[in-house]
Amino acid sequence: MSESVTSGAMGMTVESAFAGMTSVSPVVFRAGCPDCRGRFELTAGALRLAIGATSRTTFYSFTCPECGASVRKPAGERIVELLTGGGVRTLRLHSTL
Ligand SMILES: [Zn+2]
Repeated sequence: MSESVTSGAMGMTVESAFAGMTSVSPVVFRAGCPDCRGRFELTAGALRLAIGATSRTTFYSFTCPECGASVRKPAGERIVELLTGGGVRTLRLHSTL
């Protein structure tokens, strides 16, 4: 079969496209406020991530830009990866066991 894709040209295209994306679009995270029920997008600098010993003590927090409430939500493994990968300040909580 002659359906093999020539990866040379495509590789270059994808590479340059990603290079442009990372420099142009900042990383934003969608969040919601339980107080005023507002929905907004936050940059990495507006979020904080606290990683505890267990998933129950791992959460992220931010201040609602609409009503000023401090919101704290549990963060699963996926969210932790997203936030840390996006440059969110991470605080590792020490537990005394
Ligand atoms: Zn709010």
